[in-house]
Amino acid sequence: MEIFGIDIGGSGIKGAPVNIENGEMLTERFRLPTPEGGLPSDIAVVVGEVARHFNWNGPIGCAFPAIVKHGITLSAANVDQSWIGTNGAQLFSGATGCPVRLINDADAAGLAEMRFGAGRDQQGVVMLLTFGTGIGSALFFNGVLVPNTELGHMEVRGKEAEDRASARVREEQDISWKKWASRVDEYMLRLEALFSPDLFIVGGGISRQHARFLPLLTLRTPVVVAAQFNDAGIIGAALAAADAQLV
Ligand code: BGC
Repeated sequence: MEIFGIDIGGSGIKGAPVNIENGEMLTERFRLPTPEGGLPSDIAVVVGEVARHFNWNGPIGCAFPAIVKHGITLSAANVDQSWIGTNGAQLFSGATGCPVRLINDADAAGLAEMRFGAGRDQQGVVMLLTFGTGIGSALFFNGVLVPNTELGHMEVRGKEAEDRASARVREEQDISWKKWASRVDEYMLRLEALFSPDLFIVGGGISRQHARFLPLLTLRTPVVVAAQFNDAGIIGAALAAADAQLV
């Protein structure tokens, strides 16, 4: 079965049709820049353009960087405040003319990694973290997702973790990989102490550069890199659209 997956990020809106049986994208992904200001109506226009680029007519899964419950976005950390309370699923459905399932972006990436990537067949507690504009989290127990965990907002040294250790902060503050890795390490040590995961999966844009920081981490829990790097959001969004049990 083919489902169209869309991943909405701080800088780009990317989409591709996905074969949900094997998790493969059927074509190269198509990307348009996220409109300045990120207002719901402007983002909806671009979501419509991405789907139209493929003449898509069928179910769509859409990953979005906020808490999502029943199609409604309930937080706005790195997006415009007007997203709070917006029915994004309905909005994108109107823009594309297709049924749309909305899911948190890190949860989408986690679903893809658990089904086809670094977390495949992994039992116990698995925590996926995405390091990008913010820090996203997806928590699984025996393969079942606990949605909307939002652990990037956990405080470390009196600041939200994503304001100290996201990939954005590393770039904006031009801090060394060593210093950034020590911030990531401190954050993940706290998560390790609180959740005792069996496995950490590191994803997001930064995962391609894993060699620069993963060897510097001091966790006892195994840490692996997301197998699908930055495409996991698209693939996982498509999977979510096929899974009626997710809300
Ligand atoms: C948002 C999360 C999102 C993460 C990664 C955070 O700022 O609150 O919902 O998953 O960024 O995009």
